[in-house]
Amino acid sequence: MKHHDTPADSIATTCPYCGVGCGVLAAPGHVEGDHRHPANGGRLCVKGSALHETLEDANRLLVPKVAGYEVTWEEAIDRVAGAISDSVREHGAESVAFYLSGQLLTEDYYIANKLAKGFIGTPHVDTNSRLCMSSAVAAHKRAFGEDCVPGCYEDLELADLLVL
Ligand code: SF4
Repeated sequence: MKHHDTPADSIATTCPYCGVGCGVLAAPGHVEGDHRHPANGGRLCVKGSALHETLEDANRLLVPKVAGYEVTWEEAIDRVAGAISDSVREHGAESVAFYLSGQLLTEDYYIANKLAKGFIGTPHVDTNSRLCMSSAVAAHKRAFGEDCVPGCYEDLELADLLVL
């Protein structure tokens, strides 16, 4: 069921920022949590609540720049490709590393891995997902003896004690 002030043209979609995958009702200039969605039951964290503000930001970079100056996409891509080629030629393929967003879709991640491992030949490709979770893994191992996510939302409702 939509909230009373939900725009009529809003569409049901998913917040792209983290693995919780909250349901969002989105319209131009407006987002709110989807009350029907099982991941969030209508709630959004501060990042999800501000999704529409990222689209309206006047300072958002819309064209490529090199050293502060606008360049065409062709120039920007040539510059990046040239720097990668120079590094491979001078220092070998393993001198190149890719640090990817954790918000890539599976297909995008596959293509980036193909480029790094299959084409350039470097094994150094990873996403911020691993670094993001490594602190949680260390904490889970110390607290519970193993790396596991110890609960789900239903557990929270049934718990007598929560330690945060
Ligand atoms: S609203 Fe917050 S918790 Fe939900 S998916 Fe987005 S970033 Fe994650």
